Amino acid sequence: MKPFQERGDFGPEGHGKQLLENLFIVSWLGMTPDQIDCHVYVLRGPDGLLLIDCGAPWGHPRILRNFLHWGLDIRQVRTILLTHGHVDHGRGGYLFKRMGTEILAHVVAAELAEKEWADCLKEEGSTESYRVDGSLGEGHRIQRCGYDLAVLHTPGHTAGCLSFLTEVDGQRCLFSGDLLMSNGKPGWSGDPGFSREKIIANLKRLIEMDFTNLCHGHNYRMGDGKRWFRDGLEKAARGEW
Ligand SMILES: [Zn+2]
Repeated sequence: MKPFQERGDFGPEGHGKQLLENLFIVSWLGMTPDQIDCHVYVLRGPDGLLLIDCGAPWGHPRILRNFLHWGLDIRQVRTILLTHGHVDHGRGGYLFKRMGTEILAHVVAAELAEKEWADCLKEEGSTESYRVDGSLGEGHRIQRCGYDLAVLHTPGHTAGCLSFLTEVDGQRCLFSGDLLMSNGKPGWSGDPGFSREKIIANLKRLIEMDFTNLCHGHNYRMGDGKRWFRDGLEKAARGEW
């Protein structure tokens, strides 16, 4: 099979990237000056679009433009899976809820995201309120938009972190949120649920799983995605984090 030639860029005027025929990134760190944004992944399926994380309100107008650029219809977003509840990953969820999108998360992440949404709605003077549509946990399997996803509870960055394992265009992809960054170190360590030991245990577990592409909360690696996990475990063993 001819490898897919990825397209796009993350520059100030960029629209994100198309990593595979049916895998896109429409939000990224640095997209909004002086704000924090996460990688929002779009999986295009035969019956709708599935998002891994949904970004923040400040990034939303740009996300809408990026959808248009890639010929993706925002109204086709059926489901959002949250890797965790931090602002950059889930705060923009209420803007999707307004369009009727289903949002699923771990119960701990749901609690945080719902609080973020309530704060945003209150600030807007809105009387609307939204809830997460369902909670996910270890061992769950979900089918959405033509994708079959294994749900893994991978705490450590927060208590409510989930990772998702699925196949996109014949390639095994792991979506791991902020468990580990590309420098082989954990993401932000200020959450009350942060646990170095749990991150290490989860890295050891995930590295044994069947995937080649690693799509984490702020970067991605197509092919040998496990390299970042190996690097992270080596750094942890050397006491570098
Ligand atoms: Zn986070």
